[in-house]
This record gives sequence, C-alpha cells and structure tokens, in this order.
Amino acid sequence: MKFLCVLCVLCSFASAARALEREAFTITKYDLAITLEPEQQRLGARGKITLRNDSAHPQKIAALQISASLDWRSIRVDGKPVQFVSQPYISDIDHTGALSEAIVTLPAEIQPKESVELEIGYEGVIPLDATRLTRVGVPEEIAKHTSWDQIGSSFTAVRGAGYVAWYPITTESADFSEGNSLFEVADRWKAREAESAFKLALSLPGGSREATQTLLCGAEARGSSGQAGKDRGIQVECGWSPLGTVTPTFALAEYVDESKAPLKLFSLRGHETGASKYSNALEPATKFVSGWFGPPVAPIAIADLADPNSAPFESGTLLMASMAAEDSKLAGINLVHELVHSALPSSRPWVYEGLAHFAEALYRQEQGGRQAALDVLGLHRAAFLDAEKEAAAAAQKNAGEKSAGQPLSSTFDETYYRSKAAYVWWMLRDMAGDDALKQAIHKYRSEDDTDKNPKYVEQLIEAAAKRDLGWFFDDWVYRDRGLPDVHVQSVHPWQTEKGSQMITVTLENLGNAGAEVPFTVICEGGEVTTRIEVRAKSTATTRVEVRGAAREIVVNDGSVPESDVTNNVFQISAPQK
Ligand SMILES: [Zn+2]
Repeated sequence: MKFLCVLCVLCSFASAARALEREAFTITKYDLAITLEPEQQRLGARGKITLRNDSAHPQKIAALQISASLDWRSIRVDGKPVQFVSQPYISDIDHTGALSEAIVTLPAEIQPKESVELEIGYEGVIPLDATRLTRVGVPEEIAKHTSWDQIGSSFTAVRGAGYVAWYPITTESADFSEGNSLFEVADRWKAREAESAFKLALSLPGGSREATQTLLCGAEARGSSGQAGKDRGIQVECGWSPLGTVTPTFALAEYVDESKAPLKLFSLRGHETGASKYSNALEPATKFVSGWFGPPVAPIAIADLADPNSAPFESGTLLMASMAAEDSKLAGINLVHELVHSALPSSRPWVYEGLAHFAEALYRQEQGGRQAALDVLGLHRAAFLDAEKEAAAAAQKNAGEKSAGQPLSSTFDETYYRSKAAYVWWMLRDMAGDDALKQAIHKYRSEDDTDKNPKYVEQLIEAAAKRDLGWFFDDWVYRDRGLPDVHVQSVHPWQTEKGSQMITVTLENLGNAGAEVPFTVICEGGEVTTRIEVRAKSTATTRVEVRGAAREIVVNDGSVPESDVTNNVFQISAPQK
C-alpha cells in the first residue's frame, strides 16, 4: 500500500511536470514584422508563429518566452484572444538573465505531431545588458564587449536566441554558473529549430533622423542596402528556410556601403583603413576559394561593430566584426571563411562551418607556410580539448560507453562543428592529399548529403583518394571517441647491407580515436618527416631511412589534436654505430 501511495505521488508529480513541459513545442514557422524605434531603444513585433507538439503527450499549455525587457501584448488563435499569464522566468539564455514568459492556455489540446498557429504581439526595449555575465563575476568592462547587443540611437545590433530572445523561444531554464547548462539548452534549441522556417520583415519608420542609416538582417536580405532618407522609412526582408545554424540577427547604423559583388561591405566612419583591408583582400580570397571550393555563388555580408573590442559574431553568410583593427591577415581569413559559405552551402553544420574554418588555415598556409596554418587551427584547440575532456569524464561515469560526447555528423554544439570539424577536415586533407580532397569537395552537393546516405562525405573522399577511411570517420565523425594519444613505444636503429642507416619506429596510440600522425626523426644530417596510421588502442611500426645517427623523434606537428602532448618527444639515448 505504501508503495502504491508513493507511486500515486510520483504520478501526480509527473502530470504536473507534463503541464509545464517547456520544450514540448517546437516553433516550426516564424513570420514576424518588427518595427524599430532606435531613439527609444524600442521594438514592436507583430506576427504569426506555428507551434508543433514534439512531445509524446497532448498539450494544452504552451510556454512562450521573449527577453525580460520585452512584454507580451496579445496572443490569438483563429482570430480570438487566448488566455495567458505573463511571468518572469530566470534563464541565462538571454543577455538580461531572464525571460518574459507567457503561459498560454490553448483553445484545445494539441496532439503529438500536430501544430497550432498563434498570432502574437509584443514590444519593449533592448538596451545593452550584461547581467548574465556580470552576475557570474565577469567584470562589466569585459562583459559588455561580449554582450554587445542593443537597440541604440546611433548603433543597433541584436543577435537572436542564445543572446537576445527578440523572437519567441520555448526552452528550459539555462544557467551560466552550472557547467554547460547554458550551452546545452542553447544547442538543444538550435537543433530543434534547425528545420524551421523564419521570415522577418524589419522596418524603420520615417522620422526626424538627420542622417541616412542602413538596415541589415543578412547577406541575402531584400532591400538591405536601402538607406533611410530623412522622411522615408525603410524596410528589409530576410528569410531562412530551413534556419539551420543561423541565429537571426539585425543591425542598423550609419554604414558606409562599399559593396562589391559578392561582398556586401558595411563599415562605420573612422574605420576606412580597416574596411579597405577587406576590399583589397577580396580578389585573392575569391581566387583561392574558387580553386578549392568552387566559385562563390551567394552574396556574403561583413558589417562593422561600433565597439572596437566587440567579440566578432557570425550567422550564416553575415559576419559582424569590428573593422577598427586594420589587420589584413584577419580580413583575408574572414573573407575566405564567408566566401566558402557562399561557394558551398550545406545543411550539415560540420561540413558548412568545418570547411570554412579549415579554409582559413589553408589560406594561411598559402601565405605563411604549414606552421602558420597550424597556428590558426591551434586557436580552436583549447575549447574543443575541454569539451572532449568533459565527454571523457562523463563516459567514465557511464561505464561501457566509450564516450558520452557528440557525433560530429549530427552535433549542434559550436565547439564541435567549428573547432573539431576544422581539425577533422585538416586531417582528411593530410591523408587524402590536396587534389583528392579538392575533387571530393567539388563533387559535394548539399542536397545529396541527407540522411538517406549518412556516409556520403566519406564515400566522396574515399573515391577520390582511393583509400579506406571508414575507421577515421567512425572515430571522428559518426561517433565521438575522444582524442588519440600517440607516443613512441620503441625505436630500433640498424644498418642495411648497403651501409645506410635505418630505424624501426613503433608508435602507440593510447586513445580511443585513431589517426594518421606525422612524426619527425631528427638526426645528425638533418631531419626526416613521415606519416603513419595508428588506430585506437593500437601500435604501428614503420622504417625510416636516415642520413646520420638519429637523436630524437617528435610525434605530431600539431595537426592531430591529442589528449596528451607531453609524451610526444622521444630521445634516442643509445649510442649509434
Ligand atoms: Zn561560418
């Protein structure tokens, strides 16, 4: 009987929890009209959203969330107002650290997989707000360079979900101070929304502004470069279908338009030299990208940020980065990245972003050699090594699982689809060679890269390189097996009958992911670099001919991310004969 009571209590908890399943509904369609009033830091929104019940139960209650500095005005279904209660909901998914949540009672239960369309209205202000960072101890001066979103009379730039919920979202609370909670909630939201359609009409009413301003919402925005005259208003439209990894973002500023197809270049006064670095880099960057990835086909946009210390931000083919820096290397790399997106659309984040980050390194190699390229890749190392460490620690808890991480092929975690993917493409290039990888990339078609054939990319590269790469894709792309850890297990020097020096080298990989690693034998007469495939938890042996007595072996030049690099140098102490 006692057991039954406990069970009843549990049941009632379960049904209460079910009523508040905040992530039950996915917003599959947005059709929003947003009016900006920059002097008041204000926006007003009207539009329609479609909610699909992705839970296993019928739902009568929907929780819709917008930034805490915005207020719900109306919610209607079939033209009739529906009952809703508005309440604050603490969550670090928004820059204010909170959301305005409307708990909506729908006119009827929505069955699993069924949808309902809501007409919504909300308005309010979006001032600069770094609360979610300052309350976990980030000094305000630093926090505002990261949390730069605001509607302002001289400069407006607002990023969407994950930064500012200027459109409705449906999420569980995210907490910055709780490990990865914020990123988990934000990544989950992105994954749920990847197939959604988002349509935005942004307008700035005509008024008293003296100067002309440019309203932007993406590279392909219709009317985006239209400028506001003194009395005329302006309107731009943007649409993403599917949304993919795009974070809908808008900006409004007195931009100097220096566009030259396919680049839409918007800079701020005083940043002329920085903007010219982009203009000058366009031709060589386009030439480089065309050779590797095909000609850029879609427009790209790079827009200036008012605060020179702002962290750059990218969404689809729109890059927002301060042009105060006057850095030609950075301008070249940024352009290459966006041009790759223009040349190679893909609905797979690890292909779309991974190739663009990989291309940055390739471009640096062309200008400054392999080490310069590895330095670019190295910027990704820390973030993604930490993520893999956490995955490995979680895997240890769930014994039996090799890793609790995320398969690269399906992840919506930026650390993976940007940083890990950049390394994966680089390793594929080292294994397949430039010509074979180029050939595979040229054959790639996003529409063919669907769930129908999960091995599409692998097969393209294998066909071009004429090499089995199944093991590599298994360890790095289809599953998250963590990282390799390669070291020299043994070295055996000997002399051939012809009198030349040979050494037999055995490398051991202590990790769960295999890799083809380069290693360099340093000897009296110079050095020899070669490559060898070392599978997970295995050893591999090869012979290297050297000109003089071998002194040292250095495993891995930094192109293979490893969990431990302290064991990569091996001294050959035995005297050579
Ligand atoms: Zn990108």
